[in-house]
Amino acid sequence: MSGRTRTAVIGGGMAGSAAAKKLIEAGRDVVIFEAADGLGGRARSWHRPEIEPDVGINLMYVSFYQQMTALIKEYGLEDELVKISSNVHISDDGDHVALSSDSPLSLLKYRHAPLRDRVAFLFTTLRQVRRKKELDLFDPVKSAPFDDGQSAADWGYRQVSRRGFDFLLRPQIEGFWNFASEEISAVHARALLAWMGGSGFYVLRNGMEVIAEKNAEGAELRLSHEVTGVQQIGDELLVTAARDGSEPVTESFDDVVIATPAPIAAKLVAGLPGSAVTDDTRAFLETQRYEPALSVSYLVDAGSLPAEAHIVAGGAADPPLRNMITYPRQVRDERGRLVDKLLVFTYPGRANTRRLIGLTPQEQFAAVTPLLTTLWPGFPATAEPFQIAERPYGFPIPAPGRYRRSVEVLRQMNAPVAFAGDYFNSPTTEAALLSGFRAAAVLTEAG
Ligand SMILES: Cc1cc2nc3c(=O)[nH]c(=O)nc-3n(C[C@H](O)[C@H](O)[C@H](O)COP(=O)(O)OP(=O)(O)OC[C@H]3O[C@@H](n4cnc5c(N)ncnc54)[C@H](O)[C@@H]3O)c2cc1C
Repeated sequence: MSGRTRTAVIGGGMAGSAAAKKLIEAGRDVVIFEAADGLGGRARSWHRPEIEPDVGINLMYVSFYQQMTALIKEYGLEDELVKISSNVHISDDGDHVALSSDSPLSLLKYRHAPLRDRVAFLFTTLRQVRRKKELDLFDPVKSAPFDDGQSAADWGYRQVSRRGFDFLLRPQIEGFWNFASEEISAVHARALLAWMGGSGFYVLRNGMEVIAEKNAEGAELRLSHEVTGVQQIGDELLVTAARDGSEPVTESFDDVVIATPAPIAAKLVAGLPGSAVTDDTRAFLETQRYEPALSVSYLVDAGSLPAEAHIVAGGAADPPLRNMITYPRQVRDERGRLVDKLLVFTYPGRANTRRLIGLTPQEQFAAVTPLLTTLWPGFPATAEPFQIAERPYGFPIPAPGRYRRSVEVLRQMNAPVAFAGDYFNSPTTEAALLSGFRAAAVLTEAG
């Protein structure tokens, strides 16, 4: 035995790995339990050798992510950053218009919303930009005072007409996260407006999971280990985990960070006493809801769609397909030559995602392929189904009032059990990192 404090981190996504990093720096022995066979969680890409670069999903890093910017520097990953376009094409029943978040000219030309709404939208945006320091997309402690119970839709419809909101702001919220603007706090919309303009969008060349892998260096990894419960006996925390369906094994720790999605965290701590997890915290974890995500990708010929485009359905309805994102790739043909292609990711709307999640990839492709022309009428019939990725816990929904509740739960959090995850703030890797750092601080400050 080393005599050093031994900490279990349950969940090796962005939040858990961030917590692990700080705990290791504080001199702890850290063991990460991760149910999947690699780190990164929802930020983990898939890799297919047939395409060049071989990476898929590959989440966006935005230049205003402060924690991640610092990590990219620390890990010397600046050369791995690949800039991508921030242009959004908004569809009104298949009719597309480009809208760039940092170009007033594109707003002027944007014909899906009346001119008075475009002007009002510009002024609304400028008002949020003035409050940039307080309207934080990642830190609930800063943004909670603005979380007055209004939904993003309630708030947005007060700034511009219904048409204006449904074709200017709603597609930019729902095109990224797929949750309904009626169900989320106005803070989320306001913070997005405050921060989006003028920011650069990037991906890390080989996938964002590299950040989680670097964060976890120095920790002992238990991959493919699903934790089934946490118990407390005296000062000891007992973590029980099963490896790939084999007999569960129980290990003893001094304290623990639980960095799984909230409903899983609620189940894991069901057997812990009120002194370790308050009733408020339990209720908070149990009531967080998620919008699932289904990423369905195709290969199409280069030139058949705009490259590096983010094509989003406008309007208030839950569309058959929510969005498409196109990335240039090269594929080797039968003679071994590299041919330019586009890798197109598409995400169904909410009802279709819920209906399709858990089906076989064949069933999912069969359901999604006929929908492709609803979003891009000229979508090529020769598109080749390529890869599917499911995220049952896709996007935690920041319901009105949730930021205020997050802050209360953060205040009550105490050793030996700390929680981390993007459900405290917004479904972004940056928010997950921040929550991981906070959870580690709760444990290290306690001793
Ligand atoms: C389709 C999609 C696209 C996105 N795009 C972007 C983007 O472009 N930019 C951006 O910043 N964010 C994006 N996000 C959001 C981002 O992925 C998340 O906010 C972030 O990755 C959440 O990290 P986390 O650590 O809180 O949770 P997770 O990544 O969910 O990590 C939790 C981990 O816990 C593990 N786990 C669960 N149960 C157990 C158990 N019982 N035992 C052990 N381990 C367990 C899971 O396997 C997982 O690895 C996107 C999300 C989705 C779904």
